[in-house]
Amino acid sequence: MNDTYQFKIGDFRCIAVSDGSHTYAPPTFPPPPIFLFANAPENQLANVLHEFNLDSGTWSEWVSPYICLLIDTGKQLILVDTGAGDLSPETGKLPENLEKEGIGVGDIDIIIHTHGHPDHIGGNTDSEGKLIFPNARYIICKAEWDFWNSAEAVQKIDEHSRGILVGYANKNLPPIKDKVDLVDYGTEIFPGIQTVAVSGHTPGHMALSIKSRDAQLLCLSDTVLHPIHLEYPGWCAAVDLDPAQVETSRRDIFSKAATDDAIVMAFHFPFPGLGYVINEKDTWKWRQLDNEN
Ligand SMILES: [Zn+2]
Repeated sequence: MNDTYQFKIGDFRCIAVSDGSHTYAPPTFPPPPIFLFANAPENQLANVLHEFNLDSGTWSEWVSPYICLLIDTGKQLILVDTGAGDLSPETGKLPENLEKEGIGVGDIDIIIHTHGHPDHIGGNTDSEGKLIFPNARYIICKAEWDFWNSAEAVQKIDEHSRGILVGYANKNLPPIKDKVDLVDYGTEIFPGIQTVAVSGHTPGHMALSIKSRDAQLLCLSDTVLHPIHLEYPGWCAAVDLDPAQVETSRRDIFSKAATDDAIVMAFHFPFPGLGYVINEKDTWKWRQLDNEN
């Protein structure tokens, strides 16, 4: 499997960088149909999975890619999310994969965190709690920062995943507190790069619109975890904190992606996670980018 994939958005050089992958399976996680589509009607889900060559009875593990995004603006190197760090032996490959592109951890100027889940902040610190990207400033949505620094986070997250989620936040967020800028939705981070509201997965979950010349990349992060989420925007994952808000956020950003004909990036889709959102009647479909180069 390729670990990096270069592409251009106008004048910006972009690289999809793999941090590895993680296997979601019982007993740690529910079976994939329940983990990914927790509120889907059982019969309908079985039929839809069948169309995707999946069997609801035998689909026992979901191997999820963990993808990060590097944007070289020509002036700054911006990294979107830091992967999962030491979550498993198959994660934490981001620094070595950046190195393959000639980028050292000390070269990163800005790190944008789309949200505070372990697979998006886990690469902030090493096993001793030291910052892995020593020269970066960090950007995260204020609502997200406040959430993970509140007692509310502990109460809202189901007890199954509470330990790991809160544990990773406690290890990886406090060390950046003197280097973090808290932003709202609609904030321009760099000319052409703007935060976009996709609350629901977490309270301050953020997408990014990256525009240069006529090209646009919409980085959705975890707005969708599986292509079926485009066709059934109301079907939410067990880790989506506010399913009703997830559906609203999805419909808004899918409409924007389809109307703008933007390239779209989803961090848990097959590497490099790039494609287009195609509008079809009242719903949407995923068309993976041909990446033969
Ligand atoms: Zn994720």
